[in-house]
Amino acid sequence: MTTVAEYTVNSEVREFLAGPKKLYIDGQFVDAASGKTFATYNPADGQKLTDVAHGEAEDIDRAVAAARRAFDDGPWSRMKANERERLIWRVGDILTARAEEFGQLEALDNGKSAAIAAAVDVAWAADVFRYYAGWVTKIEGSSVNVSMPFVPDGEFHAYTLREAIGVCGLIIPWNFPILMASWKLGPALAAGNTVILKPAEQTPLTALLLAEVFEEAGFPPGVVNVVPGFGDAGAALSGHDHVDKVAFTGSTEVGKKIVDAAKGNLKKVTLELGGKSPNIVFADADFDAAVEGSLNAWLFNHGQCCVAGTRLYVEDSIFEEFTQAVAAAAAQVKIGPGLDPTTQLGPLISQEQFDKVTGYLAAGIADGARALTGGKRFGDKGYFVEPTVFVDADPRFSIVQEEIFGPVVAALPFSAEEGPIAAANDSIYGLAAGVWTRDISKAHRTAKRLKAGSVWVNQYNGFDTAMPFGGYKQSGWGRELGASAIDLYTQTKAVNVAL
Ligand code: NAP
Ligand code: MG
Repeated sequence: MTTVAEYTVNSEVREFLAGPKKLYIDGQFVDAASGKTFATYNPADGQKLTDVAHGEAEDIDRAVAAARRAFDDGPWSRMKANERERLIWRVGDILTARAEEFGQLEALDNGKSAAIAAAVDVAWAADVFRYYAGWVTKIEGSSVNVSMPFVPDGEFHAYTLREAIGVCGLIIPWNFPILMASWKLGPALAAGNTVILKPAEQTPLTALLLAEVFEEAGFPPGVVNVVPGFGDAGAALSGHDHVDKVAFTGSTEVGKKIVDAAKGNLKKVTLELGGKSPNIVFADADFDAAVEGSLNAWLFNHGQCCVAGTRLYVEDSIFEEFTQAVAAAAAQVKIGPGLDPTTQLGPLISQEQFDKVTGYLAAGIADGARALTGGKRFGDKGYFVEPTVFVDADPRFSIVQEEIFGPVVAALPFSAEEGPIAAANDSIYGLAAGVWTRDISKAHRTAKRLKAGSVWVNQYNGFDTAMPFGGYKQSGWGRELGASAIDLYTQTKAVNVAL
């Protein structure tokens, strides 16, 4: 055991940080072709954690060639389903056994609580691998009762096959590094694809530790490749002619670049993008549960959630009391580094995000909104921001319209006559929404009218591995998780045999 700053870190994590962190290509840990490395930092103190091999276009080429071989000639696409199932299941089991180690590394690289990372991010990632291991043996086509009207005398046997797409580029963000990796790797591998994973530049470490897990589980070389790098590596992957599909999670701005880059060979594209999700509290809601749930909606992961419920619509008769209660609860939240077991709210990921979020705080106040609590930086080192509840916000303010990706919520009242729907749907995004009410009819009516990919009633962040997840409007294309993700990573072949 040793400490990073003043907190205790497992010896495995210490060894991992001290050792070389190379690209994982074709079953080997290798240096970048250029020999370059880049540094990754601890957001709790801004100090450098370690250096990582810096993947660029040439490395993406090598990884794509390896994934191509493993798909076209290699064992993966021809392996028996139950063998692929066992390998993917093993990844889940190893993650469970090494949850503390992964949680600590995630805390160091990302800033989130190590305890929460182990219990939520890593535990859920393990669940995702096991869930998709279960799918491998259940991917089926169907037989089709064809009539063939233009061939009156024929006899036919027609059926469909569900086949892998091929080589998939998986590009993920820094807010849930290991979890976002699992959401893409699980179904992509279950369906028989081979992959190149490009983690975010801010959080490459758990993706590389995961490469060790694939190695330990016994995956054949080239099936999973991990290439840390910057946006240019992501661009090389999404524009690559030998990549058949790209799956992306991140900003809407980069999502649009992915679409452009994918045009060259018309590779398949799925996108999970930004959000500015409404969370609606009716006057008849369970008050205390709604306060607690609403806090979780915008503060979980320090507000760095694509689904963050950052537009809080509260029925006017309880607006004052409810927003005061949310502000009071927010002011009690324990802020600190992720390795402190008592921490509830950690730092933002980077100086860039810190500047962006504090810029929105200044813009909100300059526009005329009022902070019931928070409104500024917390402490004087690291990228900590106070949880901030804004009221007196006009729907046109940037704090109401734009994704802030920090611990900031704007609360707006609505009247019983007008209802919250028009305001809630007034967004370019449509990722998620929350509804709090004791009236079951009102709950279902509201859920139906909201333009969002997920609606959570009397809870927020109500995710499950079996439930589809994705965005309406500019929040994305396609649905991850559940059976939907198997659709994203397979294509259908129609076979018709004249007997
Ligand atoms: P981002 O730039 O969209 O990054 C997501 C991933 O795409 C990263 O791996 C990134 O690499 C890569 N990338 C960057 N430019 C690319 C390009 N031209 N082609 C292909 N891949 C590319 O997100 P960010 O800069 O980390 O965060 C910016 C904002 O995005 C945040 O403030 C937040 O509003 C939003 N965001 C949303 C989500 C979400 O879950 N919806 C997650 C994260 C961020 P690099 O890491 O090297 O840039
Ligand atoms: Mg970026």
